[in-house]
Amino acid sequence: MPPLRVTIWNEYLHELEHDVVAAIYPDGIHGALRGALLEHHPDATVRTATLRESDHGLSTDLLADTDVMLWWGHKAHDEVDDAWAERVQQAVLAGMGLIVLHSGHHSKPFKRLMGTNCSLRWREADEKERLWNLQPSHPILEGIPEHFELAHEEMYGERFDIPEPDETLMVSWFQGGDVFRSLCTWRRGHGRVVYFRPGHETYPTYFDGHVRRIVANAADWSRRRLSRSTREAPQVEALEHVPNPTKEHI
Ligand code: ZN
Repeated sequence: MPPLRVTIWNEYLHELEHDVVAAIYPDGIHGALRGALLEHHPDATVRTATLRESDHGLSTDLLADTDVMLWWGHKAHDEVDDAWAERVQQAVLAGMGLIVLHSGHHSKPFKRLMGTNCSLRWREADEKERLWNLQPSHPILEGIPEHFELAHEEMYGERFDIPEPDETLMVSWFQGGDVFRSLCTWRRGHGRVVYFRPGHETYPTYFDGHVRRIVANAADWSRRRLSRSTREAPQVEALEHVPNPTKEHI
């Protein structure tokens, strides 16, 4: 396999606007995620793009040159231009992997790919989150124990308004009693989509070793395996002669 080509897209507003978030993520959430990827895939090409850059830091060449994209957004999903949301969606259908993180559940690309509202129940109460490993043999969960805990996280609870996942790999339990499907996969066109729940901006979640391993494993698992547009529907010649009595009669 050639080295992985990753693009991390981050909204990058909380880090600039809130001191508590800036203190946890001085290089941005994208910077922490970049470190996680390079820790496990030192040969990878990891690029970053953010909302307020021209064209949100994206280009059609960049999408074509990306095996897997990570997406973190929260408060400004509406600022993502519809045309770019559609280009990301089409890139996935053509083979690019997409890993949607935490509040990215309401991002335009994810909602387009799911076709549902992707809403959920939530609460910010500094709760403990325990994530259970449902599929220890799955490549995304390689090296991950039966369960692990994050001391403080935002709660996301069911029902999560997503189409039934192809695979539900982890479920989260929260101190307040809620549960949530926290690591799920879907195939869309030629691409693979992963949703991974943890990652609220006021907690150092993306420095947790298990979370970093899952993100890195998911990037490898969802990487592009081919590049083929699904937009064209060409008329084709038959490979073999097909008798057509109606046509021959005329
Ligand atoms: Zn959050």
